[in-house]
Amino acid sequence: MTKLIAGNWKMFKGQREAAVFCRELRDAELPADVDVVVCPPFPSLALAVQALAGTEIGVFAQNCHWAAEGAFTGEVSAPMLQELGVYGTLVGHSERRQWFGETDDLVARRVSACLEAGLHVIACVGETEAERDAGETHTVLRRQLAALEADDNLVVAYEPVWAIGTGRTATPETAEEAHERIKELLDVPVLYGGSVKPENAAELLAQPAVDGALVGGASLELASFAAICRAAAVAATV
Ligand code: PEP
Repeated sequence: MTKLIAGNWKMFKGQREAAVFCRELRDAELPADVDVVVCPPFPSLALAVQALAGTEIGVFAQNCHWAAEGAFTGEVSAPMLQELGVYGTLVGHSERRQWFGETDDLVARRVSACLEAGLHVIACVGETEAERDAGETHTVLRRQLAALEADDNLVVAYEPVWAIGTGRTATPETAEEAHERIKELLDVPVLYGGSVKPENAAELLAQPAVDGALVGGASLELASFAAICRAAAVAATV
């Protein structure tokens, strides 16, 4: 099965840097047998859509509101993103949950409205370190997934919070076990996220239940992002 590699730029790359990066990405000759997505911050979305037009690289937002329009200061809607040519969106990233109070209920509302509007969605789930230490990983995953329904345009990203931006990565076995659990609960592709780098991508992506990766830090440099995409292409052939 073709693997999906999504680069989450977080709050990095304004228009100028995004333009340079997208130009490099176009020229990088990424393998054809891997699906590639970038998730720029809102101000760089239109530029990324234009710069990557005619390529197979999809542009996703990092969040999206459930209403089409309204008095929701600081939010953007699915029709606004679609008007820009944006293909999909992340929802429920742990940084949204941790710093901006996103609850499972808000995440579920965002996911279903975005899918209904025709956007593709990568919905993020994952336990904190304290939850894993307390043996609550499966309970947390079940709770986070409870309000979601399988959909052809929905992908889940398993991102253990203790592995995001920390340099600590789940072992391939830990990731595989969590992915299998998620797939029992929701029949959708599951990406792994949490300090994926060129050095660990091959063994993580070789796991049968790992359908791709959501990459933060290592997606900001072309060399590391392209290396992860190449590892995904190789893993898909094994
Ligand atoms: C992320 O932002 O989704 C992520 C996984 O970040 P990092 O790869 O830097 O851990």
